[in-house]
Amino acid sequence: MRALLVLFSLVLSLSTAQAADKLQVVTSFSILDDITHQIGGDHIQISNMVGPDADAHTYEPTPDDAKALLKAKLIIKNGLGFEPWLDRLVTSTETKATVVTASKGVISHTMDEDGETIPDPHAWHNLANAEIYVNNITKALIAADPANKADYQRNSQTYLKEIYRLLAEAKTKFGALPPGNRRIVTSHDAFGYLGQAYGIEFLAPQGLSTEREPSAAEVAALITQIRKDKVKAVFMENIKDSRLLKQIADESGAQIGGTLYSDALAAEGPASTFTGLFEYNLNTLCAALGKP
Ligand SMILES: [Zn+2]
Repeated sequence: MRALLVLFSLVLSLSTAQAADKLQVVTSFSILDDITHQIGGDHIQISNMVGPDADAHTYEPTPDDAKALLKAKLIIKNGLGFEPWLDRLVTSTETKATVVTASKGVISHTMDEDGETIPDPHAWHNLANAEIYVNNITKALIAADPANKADYQRNSQTYLKEIYRLLAEAKTKFGALPPGNRRIVTSHDAFGYLGQAYGIEFLAPQGLSTEREPSAAEVAALITQIRKDKVKAVFMENIKDSRLLKQIADESGAQIGGTLYSDALAAEGPASTFTGLFEYNLNTLCAALGKP
C-alpha cells in the first residue's frame, strides 16, 4: 500500500514537472494561436491574448496578459502595426522573453489613409504569406527549444502540405470566377492581401483598423459607389457588429453574401482553425461572386 502511494506521488510530481517543462509561449491573437499550436503540438503551452471572434484592433490587455508575458520564453506577434498594445506591454513589463514577428519577410501591402501611407497588417489572408508565418514560427520554436527540433520540423512540414493544398484550391476556385464584377464590400479593409493575390477588389466603410468609425458622408459615398459600380455583394465580418453593413446593403440594393472571418477565428465550427477559416472564406466568396 505504502509502495503504491510512493509510486502514485512520484507519477504525480513527474506529470507536474512535465507541464512546467513545456515551452511557455504567448501569442497575440487567435490565428497565431492556432498556427503556433499546429507546429508546437504538445511541447508548448500557449497563452493567447485576443480570442476567437474578438477584435484585436481595439484590444485592451489585462493584468493576466502581463503575467503571461513575464512567464513566457517566446512572444509571437503579427507585426506590421497590428498590436501596438502588445509592444507597450512588452516595454512596461520588461519581460525577458524573445519577441518574434510572424510576418517578418512579408512584402507589405500599404494603404493611404487620412493622408498617410500605412502598412496593412492583415498579411495572413494571402496563403503565400502564411507560409512565411509558419517558417518564422518554426524557426523561433526550434531556437527556444532545440531538444524538440525534429518534432517541430515534422509538424511544420505536415502543416505546410495542408497550406499548399489550400493554395492550389484557392487558385482553381478564384480562377474559375467570371471576370469583371469582382468588387465586394466588407466592414473594414482586412482583405487587401487576398484581393491582391486573386484580383478581387474589396471596398470598406472603415479603413485598415476598426478603431475609427466612418462618417455619414463616407458611408453615403460608399453607397453611391456600390450602386454605380454594381458591386456584387456585401459581407459581414465575425469580429464586427453587422448593423452598418446591413444598412449599406439595404440602401444600395447589394445582396448580403454572408460572413467572412477577418481578424479572428470562430469559437467553433469550420472556421475555428486558420486553414478552416481560409477555406470557409474562399467558399463564401466564390458562392456570392460565382452567381451570374
Ligand atoms: Zn483588421
